[in-house]
Amino acid sequence: MKAMDVGRLRTLVRDVPGFPVPEVTFKDITPLLADPDALRLATKLIAAPFEDSGVTMVAGIEARGFVLAPVVALVLGCGFVPLRKPGKLPYHTRKEEYQLEYGLDALEVHVDGVGPDDRVLLVDDVIATGGTARAGTNLIRGLDAELVGMGVLIELTFLGGRETLDGVDLYSILTYDS
Ligand code: AMP
Repeated sequence: MKAMDVGRLRTLVRDVPGFPVPEVTFKDITPLLADPDALRLATKLIAAPFEDSGVTMVAGIEARGFVLAPVVALVLGCGFVPLRKPGKLPYHTRKEEYQLEYGLDALEVHVDGVGPDDRVLLVDDVIATGGTARAGTNLIRGLDAELVGMGVLIELTFLGGRETLDGVDLYSILTYDS
């Protein structure tokens, strides 16, 4: 494996100004995903703080959380549970709505996705305002599972998502303050 560090991971995140709306600069992680060493390092770093936490399930948030979470689950030797946009999961679901800048969105989980015996790590690519992450934590706790923490590749610190997460052990690999 080539030498690879967190600084190089940062160079593989592409800023796309004005996507999907003019006021957002999108953090495009596809260059990082395309690089095998970067993908390996990023997922190992997300898993690392939770290696001794007895995690039984990794929950990934649709859509880009689905790319990272199953790899993190393999690193930790546990299972994966999808948190999906409404209407996508086939079995009985629990729903959690959350506020977007304009309007509401929601996430769903299968009612048997996690349970009281599970210790769950929540994974997504980016935390921005924290609304999506809060919905994910509420779904997991709502099924009586233990939320061990949350791991993200990118934290947009200027949007303050971390401060809105109540008692969640949040780790991010790359932070951006503007
Ligand atoms: P939020 O609910 O505001 O914390 O937004 C987090 C969710 O929206 C994550 O699932 C991200 O995939 C996505 N997201 C928000 N802002 C960005 C951004 N600037 N670049 C890429 N994805 C973003």
